[in-house]
Amino acid sequence: MTGKRSRFGWLACLVFGGLCGAGLAYVISMIAGKPLRPDAIVGMVGGCSLAFVFVHWVAGLDDKESSPPGVLSSAPVAPEQVTDIDEYGQFTVDAWMGGPDSDEDEQQLSIMALGLSGETGEVMEVLKKRLRDGEFDRAKLKKELGDVSYYWARLCRAYGFQPSEVLGENVTKIRSRAARGVMSGSGDDR
Ligand SMILES: [Mg+2]
Repeated sequence: MTGKRSRFGWLACLVFGGLCGAGLAYVISMIAGKPLRPDAIVGMVGGCSLAFVFVHWVAGLDDKESSPPGVLSSAPVAPEQVTDIDEYGQFTVDAWMGGPDSDEDEQQLSIMALGLSGETGEVMEVLKKRLRDGEFDRAKLKKELGDVSYYWARLCRAYGFQPSEVLGENVTKIRSRAARGVMSGSGDDR
């Protein structure tokens, strides 16, 4: 969470506070057995709205103390949903620190390849600990698989392939092997 309160949050406080004030006025009028004066109702609605806004503001002060501008807090952030593998491929290009024009740069290509190899090793490390120590960190495995995907997709784009195109060819190959009964065995062209 950042220190900036959203406009939706302020609006929700005003509306919800107003509704609470109206409800309070209704309950009081029922108890009193007579309708309240309009200025009393307005006062309750406005007062409750201001009370909710004040509480929202105080909660925002806590955010500002824990999260200075530009600094991420440790509060968990909901993961984004990736529904298009080619958009993800473009994301890896845009996010690459070497810039989108780095595909011809041998050093950048080497970093991509080494990154893929290194992240694959991190996946292996998680699985090794499961076998050796009986400790399985499922959350870490998920993160490392994501890291592998990042370098994989970046390498796809570096060599001019769309990730969907690479996956599509792979699906065709695997289906063909399954249809011909050659899933097991060796050799990439079987
Ligand atoms: Mg990693």
